[in-house]
Amino acid sequence: MDYQHCSVATLLSHAAEVGAINDPHGATHMPIYQTATFDLKKQGETPYDYTRSGNPTRHSLENLFTKVCEGRSAHCTHTGLGAVALLLETLVKTGDHIVVEQDCYGGTYRLLQSYRERLDITIHFVDCTDTTAVEQVLSQNDVRFILFETPTNPGLKIIDIAAIAKRAHAHNTLCVVDNSLATFISQKPLALGADISFFSTTKYVSGHGSVVGGVLVTGRDDLVDPFAYAANAYGRSQNPMDVYVTSLGLPTLPMRMKLHEENAHALATWLETLPEVVSVTYPGLPSHPQHELARTQMRYFSGVFTVDFDTPQTAQRVVEKTVLFGEKASFGTADSRIEIPGKISHASFSEAELAAIGITPATVRLSLGLESVDDLKKDIQEALYG
Ligand SMILES: *Cc1c(COP(=O)(O)O)cnc(C)c1O
Repeated sequence: MDYQHCSVATLLSHAAEVGAINDPHGATHMPIYQTATFDLKKQGETPYDYTRSGNPTRHSLENLFTKVCEGRSAHCTHTGLGAVALLLETLVKTGDHIVVEQDCYGGTYRLLQSYRERLDITIHFVDCTDTTAVEQVLSQNDVRFILFETPTNPGLKIIDIAAIAKRAHAHNTLCVVDNSLATFISQKPLALGADISFFSTTKYVSGHGSVVGGVLVTGRDDLVDPFAYAANAYGRSQNPMDVYVTSLGLPTLPMRMKLHEENAHALATWLETLPEVVSVTYPGLPSHPQHELARTQMRYFSGVFTVDFDTPQTAQRVVEKTVLFGEKASFGTADSRIEIPGKISHASFSEAELAAIGITPATVRLSLGLESVDDLKKDIQEALYG
């Protein structure tokens, strides 16, 4: 048996061996090398000298992510946005054009705006489900990369990774996918043709809401050194303690993704039948306009979906009166969450920008946790009718 041919669930259950850092004591869980420096007189025996540039704990997790994401290298960053910053610092220079899906995470949007102001870059926000629009921007400009999430958040549109990657490559443009929502358990952007995939480990990957972190994975040999250089030069690397906390969630990630999906599917199906609900947007439901595409590129549909209620007041009532759904930022935790996107996760968007991706003040975003789905149903029922 050889780890090379094992499935992701097996690799995650054997994280210490797959990370292969050769701990001298044979530790069976990745140890925390909480040290700033390494003895330079032992340079022949170890590749490490300073934790910002390399650390065995972090290196072990990076090896694991490289394998499970089918990439060439991975870099653990201090937050998910740190991975976006690493991407920009490595690839973007003054005067460049980039293309970004218009429905993107609020923090990514804010970071891009600040880059635009400082570096005079041109950002083309497009609807990446419209391949003609994508083709038009790519053919009229010299575009460094195209960046999108799929499913998008909070719009939950599905973007065809293989189709966009193919178009991007025809114009010598890199294809970058933010895989925070689907996770590498559900979706393999690099295997589908993307050049770079990154994700926030704050969400499903660490899974307990106890740490912030991110990972940037490249599928191209020529980007391995530039990303390693920038991670060190700009100080983007995650600290060993946070790497360790992140690693604790990995063996259970495949089964958690399965249960998040089961709960989301059951609740979304039930919500669709309520008179106060105008529509439910969940890629796992046949009512989603891109359900078929989602089935071809995703394994599980995750626990995030949106509900359009009849009025903003009903939406507000559900947010306020539910007990098990916490009104908190973020998603992907064991506890269920609820929010009005314009108020929290996408507060950096204007009302018009949100309307363009189908989000109104009567829209709530739910992140289904790992609770009993019957309790979750009852909670919403009592909030609506209690
Ligand atoms: C949360 C999130 C990020 C940013 O990650 P942080 O760990 O919060 O910095 C980026 N993209 C998506 C899709 C996210 O949900």
